[in-house]
Amino acid sequence: MANESFDAVVVGAGVNGAASAYHLVKKGLSNVLVVDKGVLAGGPTGASSAVVRQHYGHEVTARMAMDSLKFFQNFEELTGGHADFKTCGVVVVGSEDKLETVRQVVEMQQRIGINTGMVDREEILELEPDMFMEDIGGGAWEPGAGYADPVATTSGLMASALAGGAQAWYDTAITELLIERGAVAGVATTRGSILTDKLVIAAGPWTPALACSIGVDVPIRASRHPVLVFQHPSRRRPQHIIFDLNQIMYSRPEGADMTLVGTLDIAHSQDDADPDNFERQPSLDEIAEWGQMLMTRFPEYADVETRAGWCGIYEYSPDWHHVIDELPTARGCWIVCGTSGHGFKLGPAVGDIVSDLALGREPRYAVEDFSLARFSSGEPIANRYAETIIG
Ligand SMILES: Cc1cc2nc3c(=O)[nH]c(=O)nc-3n(C[C@H](O)[C@H](O)[C@H](O)COP(=O)(O)OP(=O)(O)OC[C@H]3O[C@@H](n4cnc5c(N)ncnc54)[C@H](O)[C@@H]3O)c2cc1C
Repeated sequence: MANESFDAVVVGAGVNGAASAYHLVKKGLSNVLVVDKGVLAGGPTGASSAVVRQHYGHEVTARMAMDSLKFFQNFEELTGGHADFKTCGVVVVGSEDKLETVRQVVEMQQRIGINTGMVDREEILELEPDMFMEDIGGGAWEPGAGYADPVATTSGLMASALAGGAQAWYDTAITELLIERGAVAGVATTRGSILTDKLVIAAGPWTPALACSIGVDVPIRASRHPVLVFQHPSRRRPQHIIFDLNQIMYSRPEGADMTLVGTLDIAHSQDDADPDNFERQPSLDEIAEWGQMLMTRFPEYADVETRAGWCGIYEYSPDWHHVIDELPTARGCWIVCGTSGHGFKLGPAVGDIVSDLALGREPRYAVEDFSLARFSSGEPIANRYAETIIG
């Protein structure tokens, strides 16, 4: 198997690796190989809450989210697979002092063509009649938002790439990046060496170690992120995705009678988790805290029962936005990481960007915003929602 040659190699079969392979093949490159040390969507992708919203304060990210949402809405036609995408809309709510930021974000979103608007307390109650409103001044409503199945999505993207001629090697780890005269020449794997001059590393929290092996410091940290699923015996539950700025939490419908709950609070992401060795079960304290957040916003649903819970890894950059860049020590080697809580929904746009970069084309987004150098030059992306991972 040694010294096989491919036009492009993608490291990682998460949503970003699969989307990169999908777009590379769609743009005419059939001899593409995806390599994963585990299985498809076996990393953070498989643990994702898979919320797809466009409510971002950073304009380039909002544009990427808008295009990615269209991709999810047309997933079957574009890939032949299914993402199980369900449209339910997102309501962003917060106290009066938080609404100026929401207003600014909504204005920017509307300017670039996103269907969204501000909503007052009465309109919020029309959307969510059981919401506790005493601390809520208003919010925003984005009807097109929804959620998908992260494994089905990744599988659909990958299946399309494979149908177009790509290959996927699972249970195969990249052990070394092979560099010659400052350019990528291939990779060493547990199945032998592979030659290529186009390498996309979408290895999630494992990306910094690969970059470090060729002398590049990628300032990404990892944190453990619990998600809880609560069942409503009465079958009454929030009908939409909720972004609660006061409690810094989110929820979304799950199945027919459940609600999935997670946190948006940066303070919950300071644990420097080991992505190969972390506690995958939520603790009893986390179950109680997440359940309390849901019941604080929806006291009518105090009868909820815990149905499921798991933890996944967020890998995040200092400004909680993506890093998409060519490694300075290896021409032709592109990394995608720092995807934190945004990486699922942005996958289709990221694959489009990375495939353009790898093919020497100009991406349709201002990707310089996602450069690695922004951290050393002191020009990180400004976070409109301080203390949150909303972005
Ligand atoms: C609990 C949770 C909830 C989330 N909720 C949302 C959400 O609601 N909406 C949203 O947009 N995003 C969400 N995210 C974020 C999103 O899921 C991730 O940003 C995204 O899935 C990352 O995908 P990826 O393809 O970049 O990387 P990953 O999923 O991390 O995949 C990387 C792959 O690379 C492989 N790999 C690593 N090193 C090597 C190597 N040396 N050789 C070969 N293979 C290697 C791994 O095995 C892995 O399969 C959530 C994440 C978590 C954990």
